[in-house]
Amino acid sequence: MKLLDNKVALITGASRGIGEAIAIKFAEHGAHIAFTYLSSEEKAKALEEKLSAMGVKAKGYKSDAGDYKAAEELANNVAKDFNTIDICVNNAGISRDNLLLRLTPEQWDEVMQANLKSVFNLTKQVIRPMMKSRSGSIINMSSIVGVKGNAGQAAYAASKAGIIGFTKSIAAEVGSRNIRCNVIAPGFVETDMTHYLKDGGAEKWFEKIPLGRFGKTDDIADAALFLASDMSRYITGQVLSVCGGMSM
Ligand code: NAP
Repeated sequence: MKLLDNKVALITGASRGIGEAIAIKFAEHGAHIAFTYLSSEEKAKALEEKLSAMGVKAKGYKSDAGDYKAAEELANNVAKDFNTIDICVNNAGISRDNLLLRLTPEQWDEVMQANLKSVFNLTKQVIRPMMKSRSGSIINMSSIVGVKGNAGQAAYAASKAGIIGFTKSIAAEVGSRNIRCNVIAPGFVETDMTHYLKDGGAEKWFEKIPLGRFGKTDDIADAALFLASDMSRYITGQVLSVCGGMSM
């Protein structure tokens, strides 16, 4: 059964990692895919081709998620190219890990802009077409670190915790228009972002994870599919932890 037949999904940061897996999963379920990237031009082109070969409409847009004007332009272009936006996944994000004593104001601003302001930027844009069609699903990518905190990740954790407060507020604002807004909080997932965790052995991390392994990008994509589809039609303002039990 295809869960997203003919829906239009806009996914930020889909040239690699979790975003790429979500784009492929949504396309497998019949969604047309607009996605963004920042610098991975070739990977974005390859993804566009892969998605198109799956029989859906697909287009990659180079767009800095942290830039408000760029988000405005992006939403206009996607609405022009795809007619509507049914699903928005605010996935783009970065980490700049450092203990507080070494964390610079520049690093703090960089993380806030890419991770938190980006969610404000695009959510504000997609609300309008969703209100028009009186339906929509917005999924914001937080992190287990935004729920629990983590030494060396104060800026990242603050940005990801901010996403949760933002999401719950927007869910309350637009629920009456049948627009849902939820958070996914992944644990450690095997991508470029967590590559460094494997230095010195991944096993020491597995002890902290009840399911005893890092997450795969597909584990997160399945959760995103659920939240994007009508399967979750009565769920809004929630944080879905996909973390192998780490949040317990
Ligand atoms: P990743 O492999 O590093 O990929 C990041 C993606 O975001 C890339 O497509 C990148 O584009 C894009 N991006 C970064 N900054 C951007 C910007 N300013 N504008 C537009 N696109 C931008 O990361 P990931 O592990 O898949 O993480 C995806 C999301 O999940 C992030 O929000 C991250 O915080 C969150 N998360 C990840 C984990 C984990 O363990 N991996 C855990 C919890 C939460 P380019 O390729 O062009 O650079």
